[in-house]
Amino acid sequence: MEQNKDAQVIVIGGGPAGSSAAILLAKAGIKVKLFDRDKHPRYHIGESGILSLPFILQLLGVEEELIAKGVKRKGGVFFDWNKKWLINWGVSGDYTYHVERSEFDHLLLEKARACGVEVFEEHKVKEILFEGKRPIGVRVENENKEKEYLCEHLVDASGRAALLSRKYFKCQKPLKAFQNVALWGYWLKAKEANSLKGFEDVDGYSSEIENPIVISSIPNGWIWAIPLHNKTLSVGVVLSQKHYDSKKKEMKRSDIYSEAILNSEVAKELLEPAHLVSPIGMTADWSYVTEKWAGDGYFIVGDAAVFIDPLLSTGMTSAMLSSVTCAACIKEIYKKKIPKEKIYQFYGEDYQRRFWRLSFVIGALYAAKGHPSDLFYKTHCLTSQDLDGAAYDDIKRSFSSVISGLEDLKEVTTSKLQKIAGERLRQNFKEYINLVPKMPYLPRNELELVFEPLGLEGALSTVE
Ligand SMILES: Cc1cc2nc3c(=O)[nH]c(=O)nc-3n(C[C@H](O)[C@H](O)[C@H](O)COP(=O)(O)OP(=O)(O)OC[C@H]3O[C@@H](n4cnc5c(N)ncnc54)[C@H](O)[C@@H]3O)c2cc1C
Repeated sequence: MEQNKDAQVIVIGGGPAGSSAAILLAKAGIKVKLFDRDKHPRYHIGESGILSLPFILQLLGVEEELIAKGVKRKGGVFFDWNKKWLINWGVSGDYTYHVERSEFDHLLLEKARACGVEVFEEHKVKEILFEGKRPIGVRVENENKEKEYLCEHLVDASGRAALLSRKYFKCQKPLKAFQNVALWGYWLKAKEANSLKGFEDVDGYSSEIENPIVISSIPNGWIWAIPLHNKTLSVGVVLSQKHYDSKKKEMKRSDIYSEAILNSEVAKELLEPAHLVSPIGMTADWSYVTEKWAGDGYFIVGDAAVFIDPLLSTGMTSAMLSSVTCAACIKEIYKKKIPKEKIYQFYGEDYQRRFWRLSFVIGALYAAKGHPSDLFYKTHCLTSQDLDGAAYDDIKRSFSSVISGLEDLKEVTTSKLQKIAGERLRQNFKEYINLVPKMPYLPRNELELVFEPLGLEGALSTVE
C-alpha cells in the first residue's frame, strides 16, 4: 500500500454490493475500509433472490450461515400476467432464497468484518475527495466529527444515493419507461402460492415448487408477493408515477395500496385470510443507468450504478454480481499484467450487457400481451443460444436463464458467449427501443460491447 494511504480500497456503503466487494477483496489480502451511514441491522426493501445468488453466496462463504437463519428457498415464479403461467426452477434442481434484508445485509457486513475489513457503521461519507478527476478518498462524519481517509481505489456502493454518478460525475440517466412508485406491507396468515386457483393446469406446475414469488399485473402496474421466513408475506404494489400522482390527490397511501390489491385476483386470494401487520412503506421506484462505470481510481457497483425496475427481483443479486466482477478487476489491477484501462473497460461493458438485456426483457414483459411465447422468443434472441429451429422449450429455457441470472453467470466466465450475446444485443437494440418507445436513454456508443474481455474465470481464481 502506498505510504500516505489509509486503505488500498475504500468502500462506500454496507449493503449487499458493498459488503460483497469488501469480502472478496479482503479474502485476496487487500486492505479495505468500509463506511456505512447506518447502524446494522437496518431495514431495507428488496427481499427476493434469483438463481445466481447461491453461487455468489458460496463464493463469499456465507451460504451455510444464511441457511442456518432458516431463510426460505425459492423454486420458481408464478406469473398472473395476461394469463397464468410459471417458471419452475425446481425441475432442474435449482433454487435461490427469499431473505429479510436487515438480517441478510447484517450477515454480509459481519462476514466482511470477519474477513478483515475495517467496518465503520454510522459513518456517513460527506464528501468524495479528488485529485484532478481521480477519486482519492472520502471525508466521513461520525458523531459530529469529520475525518478524511485516503485510498488507492474507491468503490462506490452507496445504493440509490449514487454518490459518484449523480452528485460528482452527474452522469446518471433515467429510464423513462420505468418511472414508478412502490408501496408495500407485510401480512400474516396469507395463503401459500402453491394453493392458488388456476395454476394446477399450467405448463410446469408442481405442488412441490418451493415458495414461489407471485407476480401479478394490474391496471397501471403490478404486484409482488414474497413469502419470508418470519412467516409474513411481503406484498408490494408498483404503480406508474402518473397514476399514483392522480390517485394521491384524493386518496390516502393505504387506500391506494388496498385498491391496487383488490385489482388482482391472485393477491385477493392470497390475502383473503390474512391481516396486515406493518405500516405501508413507500419509495419512488425510478430506473436509471450511469454513463461511467469504472475509471481511474474508482468502480461503481450495485444500485449506485444502475437501478432496474424490481419486476423480476434481480436488483440485489445483480448488485452482488457487479461486486464480484469489481473485486476481480481490482485484484487484476494489482497484478499489473493487463493495462488498467482495459480492466475498467471490461467492467463497464460486461455490466452494460447485463443491464441492457434485463431492461429490454422487463420492457418486453411490460409490453407483452397474450401468451408469453413471444416474450420468450425475444429474450432467446438476446442470448448466445442457437437461434435456428429453436423449439418452445428452448426459448422458454432462455427466458428462465436470463431472469434467473444464470445466463449472466455463464457469460461472465466465458468470453466467447459474451461476444455472441453482446453482438445480438447490439443488433436488436433499435427493435427493443421501438418495443418500449419511451424506454431507454441510448448509450453514447450504442453499446460497444465486444472486446477482448478479462473473463471472470481467471479473475475468480484470483479472489479465492
Ligand atoms: C420497491 C423495491 C422492491 C425491490 N425488490 C427487490 C427484490 O425483490 N429482489 C431484489 O433482488 N431486489 C429488489 N429491489 C432492489 C434492491 O433493493 C437493490 O437492488 C439492492 O438493495 C442493491 O444493493 P446495494 O448494496 O447496491 O444498495 P443498498 O442495499 O441500498 O446499500 C447501500 C448502502 O449504502 C449506504 N450509504 C448510502 N449513502 C451513504 C453515504 N453517504 N455514506 C455511507 N453510507 C452510505 C446505505 O446506508 C446502504 O446501507 C427492490 C427495490 C425496490 C425499490
